Amino acid sequence: MAKPPLPLPLDIDQIKGFLDPAEGAALQRAAIEGAGLGGCLEIGAYCGKSAIYIGVACQSVGAVLFSIDHHRGSEENQPGWAYHDAELWDAAQGAMDTLPHLRRNLRAAGLEETVIPIVGRSATVAAHWGGRLGFLFIDGGHTLEAALNDYRGWTPHLAQGGLLAIHDVFPNPADGGRPPFEIYQRALASDLFAEVEAVKSLRVLRRL
Ligand code: MG
Repeated sequence: MAKPPLPLPLDIDQIKGFLDPAEGAALQRAAIEGAGLGGCLEIGAYCGKSAIYIGVACQSVGAVLFSIDHHRGSEENQPGWAYHDAELWDAAQGAMDTLPHLRRNLRAAGLEETVIPIVGRSATVAAHWGGRLGFLFIDGGHTLEAALNDYRGWTPHLAQGGLLAIHDVFPNPADGGRPPFEIYQRALASDLFAEVEAVKSLRVLRRL
């Protein structure tokens, strides 16, 4: 039976985001296990909901979490799109800006020393990354290009035995966009990964 989630330092429902508590608990389990093999990294910070779940897990084992986001919102977060949140729009910049929200939430959670935000495009950071990862969470852009870039750019950094988590995997197209499901299928078809667990739209795979 799955272990219960680690207690969170604040009311997670106050944090904007799209992560179910059961998914958060699964991410905590994977991060604690993966942290023994290498660094922990997530793509797609938004306002920090998943970073708080994973950060608490990292904190409990003395690890850190690198959290990558350009903080300008994904396609579906832009004005006029279904997941736009006007509170995250910075009128002076004429752009989305979720970074101040992330920083505020990490501070409130006592995770400023544990979660290390990296502001930039995932593909650019991946191209310059040198460290070995034990835990990788892909929750970035949902276009096919973005999802493939995240998969191709980051999974080579994952250590053998490390854990890959992918969010928003919807086998039924009626439930959501396909690119996260497509990289999940690509991972399984590669014979480099085996599924560890499935929790709602989260899939956790192990690098063989
Ligand atoms: Mg997501």
